[in-house]
Amino acid sequence: MLALLVTPRLVTGQAAETARSVVLFVGDGVDDHQLTIARNYLLGADGVFVFETFEHQAAAKVLTVLEADPRVPEYVGDSASGGTAIAAGVVTSRGRIATRAGTGEPVPTLLELAAGAGKRTGIVTTSSVTDATPASFVAHIGGRFCEGPSDMLPTPTDPRCPDDLKARGGAGSIAEQLAVSGVDVLLGGGYEHFDQPDEAGVSVLRRAREAGYRIVRGPAGLREAEGDSGPILGLFGDGTLPVEWVGEGGSRARPVQVTAAGQVIAPEPFRCMENPDFGSRPTLEAMTRSALTRLESAPTGFFLMVESASIDKQAHRGDPCGQIGETRALDQAVRVAVAFQERHPDTLILVASDHGHAAQIVPWPSLFAMRRSDAQYPPGKVARLRTLEGGLMAVSYGTNTHYLEEHTGTQVPVYAQGPGAAAVRGLIRQSDLFRIVRRALALE
Ligand SMILES: [Zn+2]
Repeated sequence: MLALLVTPRLVTGQAAETARSVVLFVGDGVDDHQLTIARNYLLGADGVFVFETFEHQAAAKVLTVLEADPRVPEYVGDSASGGTAIAAGVVTSRGRIATRAGTGEPVPTLLELAAGAGKRTGIVTTSSVTDATPASFVAHIGGRFCEGPSDMLPTPTDPRCPDDLKARGGAGSIAEQLAVSGVDVLLGGGYEHFDQPDEAGVSVLRRAREAGYRIVRGPAGLREAEGDSGPILGLFGDGTLPVEWVGEGGSRARPVQVTAAGQVIAPEPFRCMENPDFGSRPTLEAMTRSALTRLESAPTGFFLMVESASIDKQAHRGDPCGQIGETRALDQAVRVAVAFQERHPDTLILVASDHGHAAQIVPWPSLFAMRRSDAQYPPGKVARLRTLEGGLMAVSYGTNTHYLEEHTGTQVPVYAQGPGAAAVRGLIRQSDLFRIVRRALALE
């Protein structure tokens, strides 16, 4: 077991194919079930997402380890451990950002290696740019919730945050690290984590400006910045950006009602609709297009990570329309990269995930309702969605009794197309993706 965890598994057997650039998509919380729910609803029984047509596909094991004893695997990860596995090739404990379990030793990331090799770099997300997935590619810190200076002092969001204070020899909060990271394109939410004074009383926004960042806050600013090719920090919301879709009338999954006589009351079916509160913010597709336009002229190529973050966040809320809309956003962003790849065939595109999630398609009524006289129904929350074909699809969330739904421990899919993609096959580990990208970009 120990050897399995610490020995890097080489991905071999294919002639080395070098990519000039990589676009790595992360669908946060995407597993086969979450994808199937979205595909059924959006595209019907004959549908397929663009990345599902990629020639090279694999399943990736999600592994994380105990902080107290890194020899012991845990089988449900989070975005920090999953992000770190993909970004840095290291299996770490939940909550850690590009640092080793137990010791806290920082580990180099693909983005840093690419920058070190002279490539340009970018991060695009629908979450705060300081959230766990983007942070795993750029920052090194013991706790994912140490997002801005106010998370470090006076009341730490995570007891580990003060260890990374600059006064203690650390690199500061995630926002402080991003502000001086030199990443060429940073687009997403999270303004609130930058609009704060650091330990020296200087705003993190000012630190970013002093480091050369142009800071933009809306689509107009993003368009105006098209003319210059300097580093850009686009912060289009205070925290996570709003989702594209919601359920009709705000409908989400809810607990099944049963009458005193034992009769199961079916949840009212609903459809998904555009979120009226989305506003004028740039979509994931628009941010991806903007990032690729900025990076296209990079003399030696680039590494870009694009995350659809709220598939996970909406699954936590038991909101199928939220997660379906964000899966649609992922597909639309991948289409932009595929069009880019047609013009630049030396680009490797990967679509990966950090961990599985809660929602499942279940039969409604129960397959056993006809055989048993007592009420049969899922124990958690259920939504019934009206499908394209005029039918109904029941989606059940049953991982927690009260609060938020939980991640699950399933393996997750990986899709790849372009130079180096052939190494994505069979059953791999998430951390193999680090080695696949490193090899494709010849960063070894
Ligand atoms: Zn989550």
